[in-house]
Amino acid sequence: LPTAEPGATPRRVLTIAGSDSGGGAGIQADMRTFALLGLHGCVAVTAVTVQNSLGVQGFQEIEPETVAAQMRSVVTDIGVGAAKTGMLASAPIIEAVAKECVGLGIGGAGSVPLVVDPVCASMHGDPLLATEALDTLRSALIPLATVVTPNLDEVALITGIQVVDQQTQRAAARSLHALGARWALVKGGHLRSSTHSPDLLFDGENFHEFDHPRIDTTHDHGAGDTLAAATTCALAHGHSVPEAIGFAKSWVTRGLEAAYPLGAGHGPVNPLW
Ligand code: PLP
Repeated sequence: LPTAEPGATPRRVLTIAGSDSGGGAGIQADMRTFALLGLHGCVAVTAVTVQNSLGVQGFQEIEPETVAAQMRSVVTDIGVGAAKTGMLASAPIIEAVAKECVGLGIGGAGSVPLVVDPVCASMHGDPLLATEALDTLRSALIPLATVVTPNLDEVALITGIQVVDQQTQRAAARSLHALGARWALVKGGHLRSSTHSPDLLFDGENFHEFDHPRIDTTHDHGAGDTLAAATTCALAHGHSVPEAIGFAKSWVTRGLEAAYPLGAGHGPVNPLW
């Protein structure tokens, strides 16, 4: 992506997401990617997680109105070219975020593209979204998404479809698109048996496949966030959704190749390489 001249204001993006105290995923992964790609990142914090390389030990939610107020504050002053959502924790936060997005022209019929990464749980299985919030995610936020980027566990929770092969991956993409997302990306990285990481993108008419060799590492913490963050950056630069996903997929693949051990558990992707 092009970078701004020193002293010139770069493109701005907004992440609406949770903090990871371990510095691997969530807002910390988003801000790392934004900065490395030369964009200015703004933040609406939704929750503060207590987390390290071994998992999420707990989290505290931010008041929904405070989440919305952060969005309003930065968008009305700083302005953003694209936004993304990550961990939203609860139905009231999703409702507040969706309402604010509509008011600020983010996603849906608005002019600012919105990447919805429907974070439901950590890679260790620790819940990051209340189970009863799934309905709100489906009805209030996914319809606003320019692109929704679930992994296979999230696909199963949202659509009820267990993706095991290309046919079920296509069915899941259709189901997500039917919920109202302009584009649906069904990430295949969690097909653990596969030697490839086939991601499938669908806009209601055409399927685009993004197939990269699977990087065999246990240090992939924050990979999903990083993919959504890099997608957001490319959209802020005016790229189409297929171009943005293609770019982001290469960015994450590089990050996985350079991921490093950290603590006693899973280390983070490292797109700096
Ligand atoms: N913590 C936060 C705040 C997140 O947003 C996410 C993922 O989106 C995670 C943890 C989980 O990341 P991973 O599944 O890579 O462990």
